[in-house]
Amino acid sequence: MANRILRCFICEAGLPARTMSRIDREDDIQKREIAKARRNAGGTLPIQITELKRICMNCNQAIMNEIRLLEEDPTALRLNVLIQTSSHTCLVCNGHENLTRLSVEARVDIYMKRDIYVTQETRSCRNHLDNGGYLRPEYLEHLRSLHRPLRIPGTVLRPFLNELRNRCSTGSKYENENNFTDIEFASISPINKEDFRELFTYYDPVIEENQFRFVTKRHLLTFLCKMRQGVSDDFLATMFGYNSRQRVSTVIATVRRSLMQRFIPENLGLDSMTRAEFIARHVNEFENRLYNPTPERPRVILYIDGTYVGVETSSNFSAAKKSYNLHKHHYLLKPVMLVAPDGRILDIHGPYFSDIRNNDATMLLHAFQQYLHDLRRWLQPGDIIILDRGYRDAVPFLEALGFIVYIPPFLEQGQRQFTTEQANFARLITKTR
Ligand SMILES: [Zn+2]
Ligand SMILES: [Zn+2]
Repeated sequence: MANRILRCFICEAGLPARTMSRIDREDDIQKREIAKARRNAGGTLPIQITELKRICMNCNQAIMNEIRLLEEDPTALRLNVLIQTSSHTCLVCNGHENLTRLSVEARVDIYMKRDIYVTQETRSCRNHLDNGGYLRPEYLEHLRSLHRPLRIPGTVLRPFLNELRNRCSTGSKYENENNFTDIEFASISPINKEDFRELFTYYDPVIEENQFRFVTKRHLLTFLCKMRQGVSDDFLATMFGYNSRQRVSTVIATVRRSLMQRFIPENLGLDSMTRAEFIARHVNEFENRLYNPTPERPRVILYIDGTYVGVETSSNFSAAKKSYNLHKHHYLLKPVMLVAPDGRILDIHGPYFSDIRNNDATMLLHAFQQYLHDLRRWLQPGDIIILDRGYRDAVPFLEALGFIVYIPPFLEQGQRQFTTEQANFARLITKTR
């Protein structure tokens, strides 16, 4: 009997019976009730308590602490406290290695979403956390808790309350991208947190009416949310905690001006990159072999395309009429994009209204006439331009300028289907586009 191994009634750890505490005697009533509550909260089925249903030393210690706390202060704070197999192991998988303590932000996040208090000693494996250190949502839903008394020292409670306050004031919540999980952030912004942080470094203050207007993270996020969701300024005012719709318009205008000040010139346009940089960084070996007749002497390879962008119907009738596209039945503006083989956008011209007179070729010609100077300064005869079919009318013009032009083949009149050669060529172009 003395050496018999029993399983702890609460945590199911297997230990010698003599090291464990009984909970079946008359005096054990308080202990027994707490033990039952802990076992239930752990999700284990209730069972009859007998002399052989005992608890391990750790569980016994925890129960004794709880009893003492209630004796000292019957009104002690009670919370839903996270249940863990051990306070030294990972809260998700019980692992021992490469653990990191949960940040106060992550603990407040769990508290707000699950009403579970996580103590400051709680640890997790790095891979259960997202980039901001928040417990990923798939683990959040599996956490278990026990409603029990808990003593929280002031030095622990204070940062917790501070963080709660941060999260509650709508405005300041948006001042830190780490207040959101990656998934939440993706629903607000079209770019991830890392790119957001990098983009934010470009936001210098804008001078307006002789004073600086600063761009904060909340402002940038408001702008990005507008891009991502296309929602009204009224809605953005409510969501981001501005006091009026007008304030939102001003903020978005300031963000846009700041963007134009440095980010756009440094990252977009013919001045953002030399030909040599473009060829070295953005022309892949694959495209070079495919299109360049002299692959050993790399050239610029550029895709030119007009992209459809949906816009709200204009209240101005003439603008509305011009942007109504007969084929796609939407009001569209089409910026012309110059794109590198690796997807880097070199430049954007336009946007242009898309009505029946503005098909791709006329847009391209227009863009070329307008920007001829710039483009010819940057491009050189012998450079390769890949077009989509909408631009076929522009081919003679481009070839006259000395460019090598690729375009998918068309069905000749009376031809029912492509020859194998034509079909393969079309597939090739579609693939690389
Ligand atoms: Zn136990
Ligand atoms: Zn783990």
